[in-house]
Amino acid sequence: MIRCLCTILYFFCILNLTGVSLDFQVKEKMHYNNAQEVKEVVSEHVSGEMSEYGDVPKKIALTFDDGPNVACTGRLLDGLKKRNVRATFFVIGKNAKKNPKLTKRIYEEGHMIGNHTYTHIDMSKVSEGKAGKELKKTSRTVHAITGEYPQYMRPPYGVCSQKLEESLDMILVRWTIDPLDWKTENTNEIVKKVVTKAEENDIILLHDCYKSSVDAALKIIDILQKKGYEFVTVDELFLD
Ligand SMILES: [Zn+2]
Repeated sequence: MIRCLCTILYFFCILNLTGVSLDFQVKEKMHYNNAQEVKEVVSEHVSGEMSEYGDVPKKIALTFDDGPNVACTGRLLDGLKKRNVRATFFVIGKNAKKNPKLTKRIYEEGHMIGNHTYTHIDMSKVSEGKAGKELKKTSRTVHAITGEYPQYMRPPYGVCSQKLEESLDMILVRWTIDPLDWKTENTNEIVKKVVTKAEENDIILLHDCYKSSVDAALKIIDILQKKGYEFVTVDELFLD
């Protein structure tokens, strides 16, 4: 219900911004978790017409999973601040607890914090009760540090049963570009994979626990900003 409402709000906001009128009744079944579908429909119906309105920046979101990481996240935050970019961090609860200063810094510097479970469990392989506990423990940890409960979550490996997904009181977010940064750990390869695929409304998946991913993220920003992209948090991508 929340997802449907938010999706509708998302379209209303975009249409209001651009002045474009769009019949989106057929899209009412769209869900946030299907990031690719959201991107395709919005791009097909809206962004083409947005260019007629001149200098509306193309929005795109960088997301970082599995942190905060003491060796990498601080440097990433420095680079984001220097470039005036806000991103989304799907934190692992136990890492947030271990690194409260970094977690607070992410929040205070205007980035969005999402929930990535407490111990990075595969939610398709545990009971609903166990998965729920992992999410709640993480949300409580983030709240204790920042004063705010995460509203968005990303399941580790992107997997979550339909039943569990429907019972969640959080908005599930997957991604549209996955350069497999954890596998290659090769900065140039990651950059190339992302910038050659990047389109408006994409959600890019990276991990702020690899040096190569942090280097790649900053290069990706420099390249795509020059191409007219504006980096926003996931909630801004959906609701702004
Ligand atoms: Zn993960």
